[in-house]
This record gives sequence, structure tokens and C-alpha cells, in this order.
Amino acid sequence: MSDVIIFDKDYDIARKRMVEELKLLGIIKSKRVEEAMLKVPRDRFVPPHERMYAYEDTPLRIMLDQTISAPHMVAMMCELLELEPGLKVLEVGTGTGYHAAVCAEAMERKGIVYTIEYFPQLALYAVQNLAQLDLLDCVKVFTGDGSKGLPKYAPYHRILVTAAAQRDIPRPLIDQLDPNGGIMVIPVEVKPGIQVLYRVVKHGEKIEKEAVTYVSFVKLRSD
Ligand code: SAH
Repeated sequence: MSDVIIFDKDYDIARKRMVEELKLLGIIKSKRVEEAMLKVPRDRFVPPHERMYAYEDTPLRIMLDQTISAPHMVAMMCELLELEPGLKVLEVGTGTGYHAAVCAEAMERKGIVYTIEYFPQLALYAVQNLAQLDLLDCVKVFTGDGSKGLPKYAPYHRILVTAAAQRDIPRPLIDQLDPNGGIMVIPVEVKPGIQVLYRVVKHGEKIEKEAVTYVSFVKLRSD
């Protein structure tokens, strides 16, 4: 490809079109998620050579063989989380920081997202992306094995996992979910090659688990 120049305003138009399509498909349901998807420029989170594909509804390669989720998956997971201002959210699998940014905007920057990434290089990349948008006050990035959660700031009102747990939901994540109606959204590889997205709601000791759809995420590592 040569001599292709795409201006920021073209990305803005493409982003609006993407949001309209996700609304028509019924994936974006709430004003809150719509506004957040409109606010966060996905083109600023993907590597430069992928930028022109930022508003295609597809996952894209980032670095270290990881991917940024497709926009419909980001929107769907945010809807399932029922975000609102004032919540404390844990994201496992920071990647580019895009999904964390959408969560922060869905809370009108009035909540806090703790996000943990396994690879330090990616955590640094996410910090740079989030800093460009002045989001570091409401998104805190950590490095480590997020399958153990982030006990220091628990319990969390919401937990978002963006890599597929193997066989079952990691116990530490259930333990760190707020028992007063905390919601977790997590993909689980239930059989080799088969992943299911679950929405989990915790009431006291009681865990309600609902299968939402089949999905395809990178593997959730564990030390
Ligand atoms: N939410 C990201 C995309 C996530 S891709 C975004 O918006 O860009 C999944 C990410 O999970 C990858 O970056 C991968 O390195 C990370 N990951 C995998 N296992 C992990 C673990 N145990 N703890 C924290 N992060 C993990």
C-alpha cells in the first residue's frame, strides 16, 4: 500500500460508523457504552501498521502474539458489566489498554479501573496509550499474573477478564468479587478449542453463572 493518507477526522468518521453498526446489530444497547465507544479512539491503541483497520470489527495483532479484542466483543462485555460511575473494576489482561479505557469512559471517568497485564512490555505500551488520553488517573496498570487477581485493592464491584481461563474460573477472582451483587465477565475454555463467555453475579456465598456466547480469546496464563 502506498500513498494512502488517512486523517484523524477520517478515523473519527469511521468510529462513528462502527458505533452505528454495533447499535443496529443490538450489541451496543446503552447510551453509556455508546458514548464510551465513541470517545475512545481505537486507532490510537493499535500498532501503526494496523491503524487503518482500527474500525473494522475484528481483533488485531498487537505484540508478543497477543490481540486487541474486536469492537463488538468490547461493547458486549461492557454492556454485561453494567458499568456506572463510582465503581471499582479489575481487568485481567490489559493488552493495549483499550478495553480499560472504554470501561473508564463508561463510568464517565468517575470510577477506577485496576488492570493487570502479564507481559511488562505490554503494560508499558498500555500506559503510554492511556497517558495520551489523560486516563492514568482512573486507570491503574499493574504487571503480574492476573489469574490470582489483585488482592491489594479487592473486593471489586466488577471483574473483566480478557483472556480465556482454562477449564474453570480462577478461585481468587471469585473471592475478590464484591459479594453484594458484584459482576464478573470471563471467557473459559470449557473443552479443548471451545471457549464460552460467562457472566457471573455474586450474592454473599451464592454464585450465579450464566453462559452468554461462544468466543475466541488468547489463553489466560498462570505462573
Ligand atoms: N483487553 C486488551 C486485550 C487483551 S488480549 C485490550 O483492550 O487491548 C489478552 C491479554 O491478556 C494479553 O495482553 C495477555 O498478555 C494478557 N494475559 C494473559 N494471561 C494473563 C495473566 N495471567 N495475567 C494478566 N494478563 C494476562
